[in-house]
Amino acid sequence: MAVPPRADIDFANLAFAYRPTDGNVRYTWRDGCWDEGVETESETLPLHIAATCLHYGQAVFEGLKVYRAKDGRVLCFRIDENAKRMSHSAETLMMESPPVALFRDAVFRAARANQRYIPPYGCGASLYVRPLLIGTGARIGVRPADEYMLLVLVTPVGPYFKHGFTPTKLIVEEEFDRAAPLGVGTAKAAGNYAAGMRATMRAREAGYGEALYLDAKEHKFVDELGAANFFGITKDQRYVTPKSPSVLRSITNLSLRTLAPDLGYQVEQRSVPIEELDDFVEAGACGTAAVITPIESITLRGRDIVYLTDGKPGPHCTALYQGLTSIQVGDGEDKYGWTEEIEV
Ligand SMILES: *Cc1c(COP(=O)(O)O)cnc(C)c1O
Repeated sequence: MAVPPRADIDFANLAFAYRPTDGNVRYTWRDGCWDEGVETESETLPLHIAATCLHYGQAVFEGLKVYRAKDGRVLCFRIDENAKRMSHSAETLMMESPPVALFRDAVFRAARANQRYIPPYGCGASLYVRPLLIGTGARIGVRPADEYMLLVLVTPVGPYFKHGFTPTKLIVEEEFDRAAPLGVGTAKAAGNYAAGMRATMRAREAGYGEALYLDAKEHKFVDELGAANFFGITKDQRYVTPKSPSVLRSITNLSLRTLAPDLGYQVEQRSVPIEELDDFVEAGACGTAAVITPIESITLRGRDIVYLTDGKPGPHCTALYQGLTSIQVGDGEDKYGWTEEIEV
């Protein structure tokens, strides 16, 4: 297969940051239906000054990655799960959601229009796809908009945490909660991420990679990170991850729960009391952006719970990381049918 011309970018040294590409795609929902969508080079949006996304937070997003395989094929990973989750997020905020087929078309179109920016196989980077759904209809009373836009932008990215698959330190910032049990934590709602910035910034200023949140009601259980789920590994080979009404249902975590038994782990999805953090032999953060980021230590109530002492990922996170990423880039056997080729 002919490899298309590639943008002049140092793909091997990309940060997790926005950079302009050849364009984005936009679909509008108006008068009860979605339009055909347009591709545009514009990086700005014409928006009504009373749009509900601006005033009342009717904004949800998704995040997925597109990879180039060794043989040149372009692959996406479990895209239907992202489509379904966007519908869940949209319903949670009373927004109109794109049907699964439209979501898929929008992502494929954006990837196709930007194939110069799909990083080459093996460089550690990928094309990050960011579907965004916003209420564009004007409202001044608080109620759902009568017009919505689905926008899909893409941008080539390197690792989310600075040095890629290297351990990061977490701290529990108990002055802040991420999401309430009966709130909107299970939605990828834009406002949840603004709500998490105080904890993240405080953690970063203190030299940590990210904050780890506890359940908002009692501060007795582990919830998740700002943009990644949490898991711990016990000495008897159990993969333990929180079940909570306020965590975002990570597709990476969902996939790891399927892969873990194949790698010899027993999976437990249940409440994880903070006391149990001491029992894990390894812990990790998982998500599309983070992939698997091994956790070096967790600082909780003035005490460090240390998982890794030599600054290197442990064997459990390494095995899970390799199992997952080999499928994503098309190297390993895809026995669950998770990857899909995008015809570019
Ligand atoms: C997006 C996100 C995740 C990770 O979900 P993936 O589907 O694995 O990318 C985890 N937690 C939060 C809060 C998120 O926003």
